[in-house]
Formats: sequence, C-alpha cells, structure tokens
Amino acid sequence: MHSVSPEITFQENLKIQQKDIEKYHKVTAIKHLTKDAFIISFERKNKTFKAGQHIRIKLPQYSSFRVYTIYSGTNSRYFEVLVKEVEDGVLTPKLKHLKINDYVHIEGPSGHFCLDQEDINKTKYLFLASGTGISPFHSFTQSFPDLNYHIIHGVRYIEDAYEKEHYPKDKITICTTGDNSGGYHGRLTQYLHDSKIDLDQKVYLCGSSAMINDAIEILKKKGFQLSQIFIESYY
Ligand SMILES: Cc1cc2nc3c(=O)[nH]c(=O)nc-3n(C[C@H](O)[C@H](O)[C@H](O)COP(=O)(O)OP(=O)(O)OC[C@H]3O[C@@H](n4cnc5c(N)ncnc54)[C@H](O)[C@@H]3O)c2cc1C
Repeated sequence: MHSVSPEITFQENLKIQQKDIEKYHKVTAIKHLTKDAFIISFERKNKTFKAGQHIRIKLPQYSSFRVYTIYSGTNSRYFEVLVKEVEDGVLTPKLKHLKINDYVHIEGPSGHFCLDQEDINKTKYLFLASGTGISPFHSFTQSFPDLNYHIIHGVRYIEDAYEKEHYPKDKITICTTGDNSGGYHGRLTQYLHDSKIDLDQKVYLCGSSAMINDAIEILKKKGFQLSQIFIESYY
C-alpha cells in the first residue's frame, strides 16, 4: 500500500507553471461510499462534456495519469468521478486520501461512449455495468431525466451498488455474487442469460472486459446485432 497522504497545498508545495494553471482543479468534496469506493468532486472550470465521456487525472507531484468516466450529469456544477481503490494500484490509494482544497491535474474530457442525441427520446436503452462501470449510466440518467432505460448492475454485495437510490426501483436490477442481498444472487451475465431481453433496444456495457466479452456473446445468441451494442472497457 502506498503511504502518500497528498496534503497538497497549492502554493506551498508546488511550483506550477502559469501555462498549466488551468489544468489544476480544486477538490470540492469527497464522499466515501464503502471502504474502497468514493466519489470525488472537482471544480469544473467551465469545461463542457458529453455524458459518457471521461477525464484523465493525475496528482501534481506524480507522472501517472489514469482515466475516469465523469459520474456527474452535464448540468452539474462540479465534475464528479466514482473511484474504486485498487489494492496496490498506482493512483487510486492516493486519490482515496485527497482532501477538500487539494488540487488534481485534469485533462480532457474525451471519449465516445455517449448517447446519440438525435434518437435519445425514441430509444429504449439497456445499461449493463460491473462495479464502477455504473458511472456513465449515472451521468446519462442525471443528464437526461426522461431517458427510457433499465440498468443491470453486477456487484459483489449490495453496498457495492453505488447510490442505487438514485434510480427508480423498477429501472435497476442488482445482481450480487457474494450473497443474495441484491435481489438476484449470481453474475450479471447469468441473469442476462436467464432473462427474456427485448431486442428492440440499444445495449451499453461498461466495466471489466471479462463481463463485457461474456455479455456480448450472450447478447449475440439472443439475437442482438453488433450495431446495437456499445462498450467501454475499464480494465
Ligand atoms: C475509459 C476508462 C474509464 C475508466 N473509468 C473509471 C471509473 O470511472 N472509475 C474507476 O474506478 N476506474 C475507472 N477506470 C480504471 C482506471 O483508469 C484505473 O485503471 C483504475 O482506477 C486503477 O488505477 P490504479 O493506478 O490505482 O491501478 P494500476 O496500478 O493502474 O492497476 C493495477 C491493476 O488493477 C487492475 N484494475 C484497474 N481497475 C480495476 C478495478 N476497478 N477492479 C479491479 N482491478 C482493476 C488493472 O488492470 C491493473 O492490472 C477507467 C478506465 C478506462 C480505460
């Protein structure tokens, strides 16, 4: 585990070149959801983005960037990201110790895991997420409150179904592998396999490549065309 506690006071500890100053965003809040998952809010600094896009983040005194989907909606005052600490990871154990008024270096937004604005009101969406892969779907549903969607969220335990109260109960199915606390005991892919899924929808998948690859095979067997399927793989 890395022992860095980034008490980053902007003026004291850092000599940031003036040309880079716009890339530094102040942390405005940090909300711990579980022992290893948290939401960080940053100043937005008038940056615009499309729901589903991501930003690149690094800490000022380190060189490694990592990519995070923007969790907040497009109308939110702040940028939010939902992060899960990876034990022995390079960046996430340090992000976990960020404090309000610390600074992080942000680049972007970029990415194409977005909804087509033109058919947003006439399309039915199925969102498949594992773990923090719920992030773009949180942003979609915050940005477009009238969206016609259903989320299937695969997690270990119910507490890992981050901010599930943000979604109407009939719009989310939680699959828990660790016990039966979520309503469906088993993998998201098993649920998908066992369920009748309407073919007249677009399917967005986000999270681990293992989940995405398995789910695509199931979707193809059920009759979905690849043109209906959109993916964002985290690792
Ligand atoms: C487009 C995109 C969007 C992303 N959005 C998010 C996001 O919104 N929230 C988020 O938490 N992460 C997100 N990630 C993953 C993120 O970029 C980092 O890989 C992750 O936070 C680990 O960084 P680290 O430096 O702590 O670990 P590293 O030192 O980079 O990695 C250590 C190991 O952990 C694996 N790993 C990475 N993520 C996970 C995970 N969630 N669970 C288990 N193992 C993992 C890596 O494959 C690697 O083998 C996203 C990745 C991509 C490509």
